[in-house]
Amino acid sequence: MYRSHNCGELRMSNEGQVVQLSGWVQKSRDLGGMTFVDLRDRYGITQLVFNMDDNEELCEKARKLGREFVVHAEGKVSERSNKNPNRPTGNIEIIVSKLEVLNAAKTPPFTIEEETDGGDDLRMKYRYLDIRRDAVKNNIIFRSKLALETRKYLDSQDFVEVETPFLIKSTPEGARDFVVPSRLNPGQFYALPQSPQTFKQILMVGGMDKYFQIVKCFRDEDLRADRQPEFTQIDCEMSFVTIDDILNTFEGLTKHLFKHTLDVDLPDFPRMDYDEALKRFGSDKPDLRFGMEFQELNDLAQNKGFSVFDSSELVVGICAEGIADSYSNKDMKKLTEWMQRPQIGAKGLVYVKFLQDGSIKSTVGKFFDDDTLRTWGEKFGAKPGDVLFILSGEAEKTRKQLNELRLEMGRRLGLMKDGDFKPLWVIDFPLLEWDEESERFHAMHHPFTSPKKEDVDRMLNGDHETMKSLKADAYDLVINGAEIGGGSIRIHDRELQSKNFDLLGFSKEEAEEQFGFLMGAFEYGAPPHGGIAFGFDRLCAVMNGQSSIRDFIAFPKNNQGRDMMIDAPSPVDQTQLDDLNLKLGEIETAE
Ligand code: ASP
Repeated sequence: MYRSHNCGELRMSNEGQVVQLSGWVQKSRDLGGMTFVDLRDRYGITQLVFNMDDNEELCEKARKLGREFVVHAEGKVSERSNKNPNRPTGNIEIIVSKLEVLNAAKTPPFTIEEETDGGDDLRMKYRYLDIRRDAVKNNIIFRSKLALETRKYLDSQDFVEVETPFLIKSTPEGARDFVVPSRLNPGQFYALPQSPQTFKQILMVGGMDKYFQIVKCFRDEDLRADRQPEFTQIDCEMSFVTIDDILNTFEGLTKHLFKHTLDVDLPDFPRMDYDEALKRFGSDKPDLRFGMEFQELNDLAQNKGFSVFDSSELVVGICAEGIADSYSNKDMKKLTEWMQRPQIGAKGLVYVKFLQDGSIKSTVGKFFDDDTLRTWGEKFGAKPGDVLFILSGEAEKTRKQLNELRLEMGRRLGLMKDGDFKPLWVIDFPLLEWDEESERFHAMHHPFTSPKKEDVDRMLNGDHETMKSLKADAYDLVINGAEIGGGSIRIHDRELQSKNFDLLGFSKEEAEEQFGFLMGAFEYGAPPHGGIAFGFDRLCAVMNGQSSIRDFIAFPKNNQGRDMMIDAPSPVDQTQLDDLNLKLGEIETAE
């Protein structure tokens, strides 16, 4: 027998019992006459004790245990004299009578503790050691619980979990596809799905009514810190639904998940138009844990002799509370430089300080008298001690820049509190996005998204400019400034779908070649339908107040898209290539 109990479960009520434990050596301390060993498994840590006076041989054996040795111990549960209140098993220890080394271990390349000294790549290379750390282990357990609760809730709402294929034809959702050569069809390739979008729509045509799947999706994108080439979605689709039906169902799912994993009761989610979100926060995923809303100052700040403002499409600012007296000129200079970095690209940063003593200090004090500056302050509800930060320029760009500043000030002022969750639905996205560079429209969500009912006519008959103003039945779920989910009501009509492909620059033949199956299906009684997909990894991270999804993925890839543990991707044998009828030309490798 390896174990009668796990390393997290023994308490004073077990005192006197002879138990069997197995696990890993977290730490051992040799105090001369006594040796203490912390034995760890998934469930916790239990202290083992070896006493020189009782059993010298056993004690010698215990002294030789190294970190991460796998051992089995038998012994008696006894009350500890030196209790550890920070550990659930901290009141007891095991007086060991038998010790067996099940497997020795090399010294691990980083410490297996809450705070580790291992760098990212090292931790990924030895992921099995990293998974032994509480921080990673608990995330993976949380993820499992979240998936289970997702299934429970969706099952309770009559959703059916359906698996869709991984070897498919590409779905254009904005990213590059990973492709897989087909041996049986020389010269042809499958694509790995960026999402099961077309399949779930086909399932609706198939009358499945409510579908979900917790599913891997693959996108060959340049990897930013918080992206993974393969990631997981809670993917869903429903028939005969309006936007309200979908938002209510998935607000229900989100509330259920928070309640049953974190014991957090979320209030009803506010809904905000895309246009309004941009105007008030400069972002389509505003972090609502704090205010600091934008105020537009065109009417109060233009035509008063300051040419920079006068020539700007938009003059807009935020009010940061309580820093007027503590932010020095140097601090302001640094902040301005931070805004001028190429990543943000602001030309400058105007500020107005309302100091505690009632005086006003501003970078534009030469151009505006105090009374005028006070009217600005009133617009923001600024109090003594507050600072207005003002940007001006082209509207869209300026809002984006101010959004960065708002988030930065939110961080600096500690306004993004852990454990505070502020969900919202952003709705009424534009249908199409005009790309100046390529001179073509892109789908803001994806090509299957329906325009709002009232815009269908304008879409079918309008001119080029009209297309820029079409609104979609599309929505995003945002929590604490992170996009958690997105979806839309779909087009279910062949003619409208074809018009959309046309607008997106597909020729008739291309559309037919790539999506003939879907448009064909629309001719056989497609119900009105819509859906949503949640980013499952992101949801895990946000619920735990963490910014990186990596630690919620058991085996993540690094920023170069490499799996450091198995060392993938890697070259393949010539025979494998021959089988696939692939000939490699000159290849430029990363080195
Ligand atoms: N397939 C979409 C995505 O991956 C989600 C949806 O529209 O349901 O973003």
